[in-house]
Amino acid sequence: MKYVSEYRDAATVQTLAQRIAAAVTRPWVLMEVCGGQTHAIVKHGLDRLLPASLELIHGPGCPVCVTPQGVIDQALEIAAEKDVIFCSFGDMLRVPGSRTDLLAVKAQGGDVRMVYSPLDALELARIHPHQQVVFFSVGFETTAPTTAMAVRQAEAEGIDNFSLLVSHVRVPPALEALLAAPDNRVQGFLAAGHVCAVMGYWEYEPITAAHNVPIVVTGFEPVDVLRGVLGCVEQLEQGRGEVENCYGRAVKRDGNAVAQQLLGQIFEPVDMAWRGMGVIPAGGMALRGDYRRFDAAERFRLGAAPADEAGQCRSGDVLTGRIKPHQCPAFGKDCTPEHPLGATMVSSEGACAAYFRYRRDAA
Ligand code: SF4
Repeated sequence: MKYVSEYRDAATVQTLAQRIAAAVTRPWVLMEVCGGQTHAIVKHGLDRLLPASLELIHGPGCPVCVTPQGVIDQALEIAAEKDVIFCSFGDMLRVPGSRTDLLAVKAQGGDVRMVYSPLDALELARIHPHQQVVFFSVGFETTAPTTAMAVRQAEAEGIDNFSLLVSHVRVPPALEALLAAPDNRVQGFLAAGHVCAVMGYWEYEPITAAHNVPIVVTGFEPVDVLRGVLGCVEQLEQGRGEVENCYGRAVKRDGNAVAQQLLGQIFEPVDMAWRGMGVIPAGGMALRGDYRRFDAAERFRLGAAPADEAGQCRSGDVLTGRIKPHQCPAFGKDCTPEHPLGATMVSSEGACAAYFRYRRDAA
């Protein structure tokens, strides 16, 4: 299949692995930002093709995983209300809050529905005008434009029984926060190609300039990932830290101008808590101006979500690369996909789920 097969070609993968091995002269630590890349790395064993001195650590690039427990508790509170239809992507339904999850609320009589798009939720609002329809709006810059479109459509049609519980996050401030952490080990990033397809990569240029850290825009197939690794390693070995685009078939420097304009019209950057990383300045998005009337947190008079995490789950450490999933004491014992203790074991992009699925219980 064109645009897929050539990026899974075994001979190309071997050649790239050899070029990386030849380029590496000292230890380096790289972080792949996106959970899709983590799954590609673990599924195909790409990290095991690399020199031992080159470490890949997994980043906070799974939007379900970085949504704090306090926001999930807010979702549970709304979903349990009478005359509410609560809509969410499927991954979020089993993510534990501090006491329960959305599927349990549904089992207890809450009207919780899995949807594939915020536009599905908007359609439910049209069909059920006497109920409040709330969409759990989670995701990076990749999914936020679709949400923005749903809000604009709701406004155009005068649909007032539709709202969003917003937990959209922005990648560039998270990279800044990772680099600023006192225990940071990351020396280069593989940036998430799909986020850059929307936002371009111009936002990363001030980060590379300030920190002299390579950020290489990377896709999701084995050849893509290894090209990203090679790009990072070559820069590090040469003492450079620049933005490089290794996903040219989908990404341009300026990204998708129409999507960015829509985002800017409906949302504004705000400080936001990320699981495991605390509050990140400008790390999220909130509805702006008049569009705040579509904000479920205001409509249901919810207080601010606490940023603290409860329980034995160490997903915050997994998401920041401090530990690998198998180093969590609960991995594969108390915590499995059937009985998850944390979001990173539930989400299809979660690192713990990848390690469990591909039986990675050692480095
Ligand atoms: S294995 Fe389970 S408990 Fe441990 S960090 Fe991952 S999700 Fe949390």
